[in-house]
Amino acid sequence: MNLPTLRDVYQARAAIHGIALRTPLVPAPSLSSPQREVRLKLETTQPIGAFKIRGAANAIAQLAPEQRERGVTCASTGNHGRAVAFAAQRLGIPAIICMSELVPENKLQAIRALGAEARIIGRSQDDAQVEVNRLVHEQGMAEIPPFDHFHVVAGQATIGIELLEDWPQVDTVITGLSGGGLLGGIALSLKTLAPDTRIIGLSMDRGAAMHESLQAGQPVAVEEFPSLADSLGGGIGLENRYTFPLIRQHLDQVRLLSEASIAATMRHLYFHENLVAEGGGAVGIAPLLEDLNLELGQRVAVIISGRNVDMHLFQRVMNGELPY
Ligand SMILES: *Cc1c(COP(=O)(O)O)cnc(C)c1O
Repeated sequence: MNLPTLRDVYQARAAIHGIALRTPLVPAPSLSSPQREVRLKLETTQPIGAFKIRGAANAIAQLAPEQRERGVTCASTGNHGRAVAFAAQRLGIPAIICMSELVPENKLQAIRALGAEARIIGRSQDDAQVEVNRLVHEQGMAEIPPFDHFHVVAGQATIGIELLEDWPQVDTVITGLSGGGLLGGIALSLKTLAPDTRIIGLSMDRGAAMHESLQAGQPVAVEEFPSLADSLGGGIGLENRYTFPLIRQHLDQVRLLSEASIAATMRHLYFHENLVAEGGGAVGIAPLLEDLNLELGQRVAVIISGRNVDMHLFQRVMNGELPY
C-alpha cells in the first residue's frame, strides 16, 4: 500500500486553494515562558470551523469527472460531514450526508445550510452507513471517508507545510489524535521536511482507539463513551490502510486525558486566549497546563483543530461544570 508523499501534499495544497484557508499561526502569551515559545495554529478559522475541510476538499477535488457527476456521500454528521458538504458545494458536486433519526436538529440544519442533502435513515450510525454503502453500489457515488484515505491524509498534511513555512524553527507539534488523519498527515510533512520535529498526540482516556491499536500492534475496536472531545471518538477501522502505519511510524508520544483535563484546556483557551474551541480542538494545550511527563522543546506549535461545540454545553463548561 503506497502512502502519500510530500509530492501529494503539494498537489493537495494546490487543489484545496480557494476552498480551505491558509490558517494563521498566532502567539500564545499565556502559555509561553522565557524558556518556551508557544504558538497556536487556528484551524478554528476555517470556513466550517475545523481542519477537516482540507482533507475533504482534496479528496473531492481529485475525483475523476464521471465520478464528480455521480456525487459524493458519507455518514458523518460532525466536522467531516460539514466538510464534505461544504467542499462539494464549492466544487459544484452533489452530496448526500446520511444520518440516523437520532441526530440533533441543529446538526441536521448545519448540513442542509451547506447545500447538501441530509438523508435520515434508521436509528443508528450503522443504519446510516448501510445507506452510504447502497448509494456507492447502486448509484455509483463516491464515499469520502473521514481519515483513512490517501487524499484525505494528503489534505490534512498541508497543515505541516504551512507550519514550517511560518515557523521554520518549530521543534514540537501537538494536537488531538483520533483516526490519525490530522496527526498522520502533519507527521508525514514534518518528518520528511524536518525529521527532528517532535510529534505529540492527545486522546481522551476512554475509548482511545489509536492508542489501543498501537499497544496491540494492529487496529482494534474500542467501546465508545460520551466525551467533551466528541470529535476524537470512534474507531480507526479494522482494515486501516494509511493512518495506522503513518502514526506507528512517526508519532513520538501519545497521552490520554480525563474529562477534567479536557475541560481545563477549553477554559484556558477561552479565559486566557479569548478563543472558543471544542474539546477535541483544545486538547493540544494540555501538556502546557499540566505535567504529562513529556519532553517539550523550546518552540511548540499547538494545532487548535476545531470550534464546533454546542454553545450551551460550552457555557456549562465555562461555568465549571463537567458534563460527562
Ligand atoms: C476529526 C477531528 C480531530 C481528529 O482528527 P483525526 O484525523 O481523526 O485524528 C481532531 N479535532 C477535531 C476538531 C476534529 O474534527
